[in-house]
Amino acid sequence: MTATLIDGKAIAAKKRTEIAADVATLKAQGIEPGLAVVIVGDDPASEVYVRNKHKACDEVGIRSFKHELPADTTESALLALVGELNADAAVHGVLVQLPLPDHINEENVLDAISPDKDVDGFHPVNVGRMVVGKESFLPCTPHACMVLLEEAGVDLEGKEAVVVGRSNIVGKPVAHLLLDKNATVTICHSRTRDLPGVVRRADVVVVGVGRPEMVKGDWIKPGAVVIDVGINRTDHGLVGDVEFSTAVERASAITPVPGGVGPMTIAMLMLNTLVSARRHAGI
Ligand code: NDP
Repeated sequence: MTATLIDGKAIAAKKRTEIAADVATLKAQGIEPGLAVVIVGDDPASEVYVRNKHKACDEVGIRSFKHELPADTTESALLALVGELNADAAVHGVLVQLPLPDHINEENVLDAISPDKDVDGFHPVNVGRMVVGKESFLPCTPHACMVLLEEAGVDLEGKEAVVVGRSNIVGKPVAHLLLDKNATVTICHSRTRDLPGVVRRADVVVVGVGRPEMVKGDWIKPGAVVIDVGINRTDHGLVGDVEFSTAVERASAITPVPGGVGPMTIAMLMLNTLVSARRHAGI
């Protein structure tokens, strides 16, 4: 068996077209959605992500505001900028690209973003609202995983879903969203005993660990669906956290890296910014 590819690039392009149409409708009503992206320092991977975010804004018609700060920016200067962006009526989304330099406390910065402009969905208020099922900004990568599963026609009801990784930005929220869709969810991490054995139970596997090809193809139950969140830069180019060449032979559907979760994540950021602009306008 060879798995169907879940083409994140194509699905994201379709979503961006839908978002662009909604942005145009909003602009015709005199509202221009705006996203401010702040990057501190010159981490090459972050620079690529930020560039792609601005490019997506241009494509869907969202106004983007660039704030490129030097690596020695103080935490208080960054907090002051976040405060200004929170107060700026032209800005509907505030995103601070992670990771931040070591001398800045990330939690302080994320907590300073106004929850009603927190289009990354990382603020504790939005995390809490998501968990109790209230309107919130869903975090972009977990949301992207869910849209890809939906577009691939995967019915999650009653299925065994295994999430590998428990970070606040990937593993924990995606586990929650899978639970919301009535999957039976197991979350694995670095202390999990017999990780291959747990993954072998899964009908759906979502992997976000940050280790190239760590999840082996023979851990995948034949017919399972695999969502690979990992982005690892290696001498052979970008690879995911799943050993694609062997997993593709066992899974029924799998996301490629690149071209899977990555582009979809940015489309979800555009969606959150559009939603925020609508909410700020009382629509
Ligand atoms: P973190 O480093 O924050 O979290 C990694 C998680 O993996 C931790 O929970 C850790 O467990 C777990 N882990 C590490 N090693 C093992 C192991 N040997 N066995 C089992 N679990 C393990 O990473 P992120 O969540 O931020 O990112 C994960 C990956 O996703 C990265 O490759 C990143 O580049 C990618 N990513 C992709 C995005 C996209 O848009 N496609 C967006 C965000 C991230 P423990 O908690 O016990 O330490």
